[in-house]
Amino acid sequence: MKYRSTMGNAPEVSLEEAVVKGLAPDRGLYMPERISELPKEFFDRLPSMTLPEMAFEVAYALFGEDVDADSLRELTLDAMNFPIPLVKVKDKVYSLELFHGPTLAFKDVGARFMARLLGYFNRDNKDRIVNVLVATSGDTGSAVANGFLGVDGVRVFVLYPKGKVSPIQEVQFATLGQNIVALEIDGTFDDCQALVKRAFLDDELAGKMMLTSANSINVARFLPQMFYYFYAWAQLASLGADMDEVVICVPSGNFGNITAGLIAKRMGLPIKRFIAANNANDIFYEYLQTGEYNPRPSVQTIANAMDVGDPSNFVRVLDLYGRDHDAIAAEISGCTYSDCQIEATVKKALEKTGYQLDPHGAVAYRALEENLKSGEIGIFLETAHPAKFKATVEGITGKEIEIPERLAAFMRGKKQSVALPADFEAFKSYLLSR
Ligand SMILES: *Cc1c(COP(=O)(O)O)cnc(C)c1O
Repeated sequence: MKYRSTMGNAPEVSLEEAVVKGLAPDRGLYMPERISELPKEFFDRLPSMTLPEMAFEVAYALFGEDVDADSLRELTLDAMNFPIPLVKVKDKVYSLELFHGPTLAFKDVGARFMARLLGYFNRDNKDRIVNVLVATSGDTGSAVANGFLGVDGVRVFVLYPKGKVSPIQEVQFATLGQNIVALEIDGTFDDCQALVKRAFLDDELAGKMMLTSANSINVARFLPQMFYYFYAWAQLASLGADMDEVVICVPSGNFGNITAGLIAKRMGLPIKRFIAANNANDIFYEYLQTGEYNPRPSVQTIANAMDVGDPSNFVRVLDLYGRDHDAIAAEISGCTYSDCQIEATVKKALEKTGYQLDPHGAVAYRALEENLKSGEIGIFLETAHPAKFKATVEGITGKEIEIPERLAAFMRGKKQSVALPADFEAFKSYLLSR
């Protein structure tokens, strides 16, 4: 399968090139050149399949032309080594718990898959070192660092703003060592992101080292997220629900997650419609209402992994629907909630149902509560474990949250970050010295 740029001004490339490059040379995002429907027979079998089996079959449909079946099976199974249960919260509302992986957030799925795929492409290139640069405000850094930990031929540089990520987040990428380097930048998240963007455009760096990104612009990170949309639907189907009435609600920031769901639908998964739930960063919501897309600087919220003012995957959504606003609005509706509303939702859901939401999942849960029509069944993606936002959540509910052992283990590690100023020349000479 070839991958084409959403900008349409760059040649089509192989999967390997799309993964290693990240972004197309015309600054577009790569998309699969075709999206084929899976046969009915596959959907008939879905409810009786395990998550790893299903993940492999979907991976095979996507990547089977580019990766031999045995390797693909092995790397998919290795990436998907944790459960993703669908949990009933109340009548007609289910939580897809995506936080049972090593860093307790859904980004583990894509990061683990991408790391293993890159490792596969490196197997015949023993001398090649791919350098992954990732700027993080918290969650992405931990998922990518842990996903790539110990993968041959890959080095990861995590740039994070000094003093602006929570201690729980910092220990998840700054204590690992091996092929993971944590760079503590004396600046803001925007500074970190600007350093990474400039590095990709720097000819001298490009000539001397292979650089790639591991955020959701990379096809190997966002496409595997499709696996769990199939799995969510299958789990509901095995409960005997009306499978033509399923609505999926996705708490959205950069829109990589929901784009994977939209492609799953295009491959035949019978999802009736999607809801994109936003916090106060409501650029997409506004686009749905007005047809105008006006990116602006993000504002800080308690669902901070969704604090995005110019969602990078928006172009993929446009691309999927031929830039037709009506077609987009027919399949996706939007919601936006303030911090106050998110807090009230976390509190009320716990009181009424006993279910502990994290702030991101809460945005999506509320969107379902307010928008589900009669007859519909809603699934919201619970994208992170509430313990990752322990202080915020405990502040809202007044109830202590237990820290899972795999999170506590990180907290016993020793921080080993390299301090750098928010200065491109300093960052560049550091990279070149490695
Ligand atoms: C990254 C993240 C999101 C947003 O996902 P996108 O794919 O960027 O839309 C939502 N919730 C959590 C917990 C995240 O870490």
